[in-house]
Amino acid sequence: MLFCPVCGKGIPPPAPSGLVWKHAGAKRPQGRELHNPELAAALASTTAFSQAEWDAFGIKQLRTDDFVRVSGDAPAYCRPVAGAGRQVNRLVCQTCR
Ligand SMILES: [Zn+2]
Repeated sequence: MLFCPVCGKGIPPPAPSGLVWKHAGAKRPQGRELHNPELAAALASTTAFSQAEWDAFGIKQLRTDDFVRVSGDAPAYCRPVAGAGRQVNRLVCQTCR
């Protein structure tokens, strides 16, 4: 949990950008599965994308509890890293913004 440096209130983590992913193991994680064959195939070889590469997948409103089953014979899952790749200048709460 992050906290507003001005008033000390808790701030929800920023939404994931989709540009950076992490491996989440071979067991199906909790959350919402994204069904995108292009992304599933790409995650078999990389966990980082440029903005242009990410935009080409056409995924909107990515959430922190989303996950993807990586293409391949063995089960493997990836999740987006929250906020990664997005410029966060000053992380303060809605009230103090
Ligand atoms: Zn605040």
